[in-house]
Amino acid sequence: MHMYSVFVHIFSLRYPVSMPFRHRTRDAGKHPREDPIEPGTETRSISAASGERCRRRPEPAHWPGIRWGPASENRSGRGLHDEGNNAILLLFSAGETRNGERGAGFAGILPEGDFDMIVILKAHAEQNKIDALSEQIRQQGVSIHYSQGHTETILGLIGDTTHVDEDWLRASEIVEDVRRVSEPYKLVNRRFHPEDTRITVAGRTLGEGTFSVIAGPCSVETEEQIISVARSVKASGAAFLRGGAFKPRTSPYSFQGLEGEGLRLLKIARKVTGLPIVTEIMSENQLDDFADVDVIQVGARNMQNFRLLKELGHSKKPILLKRGLSSTMEELFMSAEYIMAGGNENVILCERGIRTFEKMIRNNLDISAVPIIKAKSHLPVIIDPSHAAGIAWMVEPLARTAVAAGADGLMIEVHNDPAKALCDGAQSLNPQQFDRLMADIRRRVAFEEKTLEGQ
Ligand code: PEP
Ligand code: MN
Repeated sequence: MHMYSVFVHIFSLRYPVSMPFRHRTRDAGKHPREDPIEPGTETRSISAASGERCRRRPEPAHWPGIRWGPASENRSGRGLHDEGNNAILLLFSAGETRNGERGAGFAGILPEGDFDMIVILKAHAEQNKIDALSEQIRQQGVSIHYSQGHTETILGLIGDTTHVDEDWLRASEIVEDVRRVSEPYKLVNRRFHPEDTRITVAGRTLGEGTFSVIAGPCSVETEEQIISVARSVKASGAAFLRGGAFKPRTSPYSFQGLEGEGLRLLKIARKVTGLPIVTEIMSENQLDDFADVDVIQVGARNMQNFRLLKELGHSKKPILLKRGLSSTMEELFMSAEYIMAGGNENVILCERGIRTFEKMIRNNLDISAVPIIKAKSHLPVIIDPSHAAGIAWMVEPLARTAVAAGADGLMIEVHNDPAKALCDGAQSLNPQQFDRLMADIRRRVAFEEKTLEGQ
């Protein structure tokens, strides 16, 4: 029977390092006040907990470099990350007793650490096993900082840990927990590429300082249809023509696209209007057929088709990578990393709505994807409000948010006669609606002091 359940909390927080920590220490009155860490210090903090260890304050002497403070009222670590500096807080905390009381907890901050991964070893791990594991880790090109407690050891891994497999570490009999501190993606990461990537295709530039609108029908249906839509979206100010030739439909009985014929018609529309074309690929076997396409789209359903992503990595074509219906941002970045790892740096990310519990919208547009991508990555990002909304009247308000949030462009479905569309008619704008939307977007893009591409 356990009096305490055990919690190991490891947080990566944006956390004003000196303030809350000092405050807590003073309030509690039981523990001597630690020297505050200067605001602005780039700080990482660490602590850990398990079983018996939670119930006593860790001995600071045994955890060199770590500054301790009580954290009992803040078991979750919430409230610490309002503002301020980078810090990683790992919280020592006893859990709740059976009658719901909280046990004491402690937070530790290890300043100026630079760990990319933290490996918490089991209590009483044998030294020879620690040495063997450490050696295997070092062989992967990273160095190790040891934090030695009475009974426990924490390894702080420093260096490029993108190749260090968390599951491999977890499988070790002496490892209790593993936390990745730095991101597992490298080429996509702004940390290693601070400048925004701008992608130039067919005289249009996607990325910082510009705004591009990709418009066209969900699928190419006939020559007249695609040419008429191409002409009207061009007149309204679109920079690219979209149109699906190969359609990833939920039902095998739904219209699957005109396939090769669709590609042929898209190229005719390009010739007539001069608009570069964006169309979706479904398999790596189609790459030859897509050699003459300007931007290759990877649809939401294929975001984790890793074989396809790898092959696209060997091409130099700009790839429009759509976020999967239920994919996290990290998964999106990892999929982009697949393409970039193959040598193709021309990746454009696209947020197109994700599945949530909400039923009044086809997919929830996750507008926070824009600032997240801008913060974490140097790649351009566009918003597809059509597949998020699922209904035409919601497209315009969602499109506006994309400009305000700092997106680099939009992808909008436009059909000459939405009521008769073979695919996604309900969310498609007719040419007049698209024209009104573009008039609005043009003003907003000017307000953001960006150039509307394709004018
Ligand atoms: C599309 O762009 O027509 C499409 C199928 O989009 P998604 O992959 O985002 O569903
Ligand atoms: Mn569609």
